[in-house]
Amino acid sequence: MKIQHFLLFALCLNLIAVSRVNGQQKFAAPLQEGMFQLNEIDLHVHAGKERPVPLNEWVDFLVHDGRKVLLLLDHLELYRMEEKEKNAWLSKNKLKDWYPDPVTGKNQLMKDFSNISASRKDVLIFRGWEIWEGELDEGLEKQPMKDAEVIGWHLSKAAWNGKAPMGKELISRVRQVIEVQKEFHVPMILFHPFSGHYNAVKEAALLSGRQASSIKKEEYRYFTSDEQKELIGLLKGSSIYMEIEMGWLSLWKDPIVIEAFTEDIRPLVDAGLKFTVSTDAHNQRHLGKPYQPEVYCQSLGVTPENVNTIIRELLAIRAKKSLNSQ
Ligand SMILES: [Zn+2]
Ligand SMILES: [Zn+2]
Repeated sequence: MKIQHFLLFALCLNLIAVSRVNGQQKFAAPLQEGMFQLNEIDLHVHAGKERPVPLNEWVDFLVHDGRKVLLLLDHLELYRMEEKEKNAWLSKNKLKDWYPDPVTGKNQLMKDFSNISASRKDVLIFRGWEIWEGELDEGLEKQPMKDAEVIGWHLSKAAWNGKAPMGKELISRVRQVIEVQKEFHVPMILFHPFSGHYNAVKEAALLSGRQASSIKKEEYRYFTSDEQKELIGLLKGSSIYMEIEMGWLSLWKDPIVIEAFTEDIRPLVDAGLKFTVSTDAHNQRHLGKPYQPEVYCQSLGVTPENVNTIIRELLAIRAKKSLNSQ
């Protein structure tokens, strides 16, 4: 055999070996032991002023409902109510005043979350705040944000003159969140960014006398393909996540919704953007129902591996902090 032929032969063998390795890497399944399943993860649970029972009991409810990882949080603005307004709110919602002091209440809540996170061995607990997106325009209350492991941004039509945000609005929020994250180095989640728009399209059609079944896929679409590319450019590799909350289950019966939302989300997933799943539970009414994020996540391509990314990141941050404090 000539040396050139030998080299070519060796190169071919090498290429076959490399493609096998690549093939294995492409199709290799991650260890189940290294991941939480989707319905074990709930990264948006209200557990502060709105919790229906003492904190430990509330966590018991969630654990009995199958959860193994929780992000406990509260709406930051609930701590700014005047006494009269607060009392009316408490009696209307039949709630106890768990955190009566508007100054120390926020700090006390984060301490309660830290303590329960340390004491419970049956569930992994992270703590955070849910902050209304309008505060990104109006100014942030920074002190309590320093105690959060995660900050979630509450997106809704309230900050957009009553029109539910879509791709363009989401992108402008993302740019603001990126700026805030330069100061607060914690994972951030865009809470319920999509369902408001899908619900609004449905409501508008019904109000104008149309059947929901007459709504076309294009009417539901949230992103243009240019917006998808822009968002991928902003979020790929970042620590900013998008939430797909339990409310999607009710939208998921309509095949046109499924098609539209899959076209909206799948390219983002394929490009490497990361998502979270949640119930957004405020009380027991949100529990005891089927919590099946896999139903909608599967067609979107959102895998347990994708959703475990934030959990791994949070655990790494905790581990690093505990190393530094030694
Ligand atoms: Zn919210
Ligand atoms: Zn919420």
